[in-house]
Amino acid sequence: MGQIRIRGATKRFGAVTAVDGVSIDIADGEFLVLLGPSGCGKSTLLRAIAGLAQLDAGALELDGRDITHVPPRDRDLAMVFQSYALYPHLSVERNIGFPLRARRRPRKEIDRKVADVATTLELTELLRRRPRELSGGQRQRVALGRALVRDPGAFLMDEPLSNLDAKLRASTRYELVELHRRLRGTFVYVTHDQVEAMTMATRIAILNAGRLEQVGTPAEVYDEPASTFVAGFLGSPPMNLVRAKVSSRGPMVFATAPDIDVALGLPGQVPETEVVLGIRPEHLRTHDARPGIEGVVRLVENLGAEEIAHCDVGPARVAVRGPRPLRLSPGEPVKLSVEPDHLHLFHPDTGRRLR
Ligand code: ATP
Repeated sequence: MGQIRIRGATKRFGAVTAVDGVSIDIADGEFLVLLGPSGCGKSTLLRAIAGLAQLDAGALELDGRDITHVPPRDRDLAMVFQSYALYPHLSVERNIGFPLRARRRPRKEIDRKVADVATTLELTELLRRRPRELSGGQRQRVALGRALVRDPGAFLMDEPLSNLDAKLRASTRYELVELHRRLRGTFVYVTHDQVEAMTMATRIAILNAGRLEQVGTPAEVYDEPASTFVAGFLGSPPMNLVRAKVSSRGPMVFATAPDIDVALGLPGQVPETEVVLGIRPEHLRTHDARPGIEGVVRLVENLGAEEIAHCDVGPARVAVRGPRPLRLSPGEPVKLSVEPDHLHLFHPDTGRRLR
């Protein structure tokens, strides 16, 4: 079991509120990713779950047990750090077995569990080596092994892939997802990397300045971002956000801004309202018969399979993403269109999603 309830978690450092009233229910077996920019409080929240930071307010439960004031070693949670925190003078075998020796488990049990974990993580050949004789990826697996050997209620991971090069990071990502599938354990994983979050998580919790912006499956947070912050954080390039006015013309509702005039696909009369209009770069069509957006191409980036065109639309800069070639050239006028289903509307002051 590994069900974690976070209730109104708050942690302050002097004048800084690092974690501000965060509540999340993490189900047994989830791979929950805490995602957000540097300083948003994700590490502090993870450390609070581990018991390495004390909350100023709020409560934590593990499998229905209140662990808010339980010391870290009695929480039945295993933490994997970014730095791996391996003991340099101990072999891989002794590093992995360390938590069991600290708990004075019988020798036979330790040997058996270390051997099992080494098999699972393909470390059997490396058991006699010291950490300095391992690659970054192998060290990362040893750190994971030391967590695994305890058979904890949940695994807490703080940017465990950030010390690996790009290629190894991609393959280790895949290994972690496989491991999660096999163990069926609860993983709580901190990263600022949206690709890691989107590819590994069963759900993503997005934090901004200590507050929870949204929690949902990768598809939910990408397709229906709850705020302009989430919309602007996910996606590469992120969602285009433009201030616009919503109003009725004839029987239909439109969003308009300088050089933008798009139908929202809604019938009826609405009072004129200020909004923030959101459109993902991949949802803008070029060379379509029904233009709704007029701009000038400024720059075209070639990504191999795709291209990204950056266009000036009135005072706004808008990115368009599509299969190569987009057939757009810098300096040329461009007409863009978008399906009404792909339009997002946000409140201009609060940034919260309206539609
Ligand atoms: P990063 O991705 O850069 O690690 P993060 O999202 O994990 O960032 P935290 O490390 O949780 O963010 O920090 C949240 C806020 O709390 C930051 O403003 C940080 O400066 C502050 N903070 C964190 N730890 C301490 C501390 N021990 N003392 C004072 N302030 C701290």
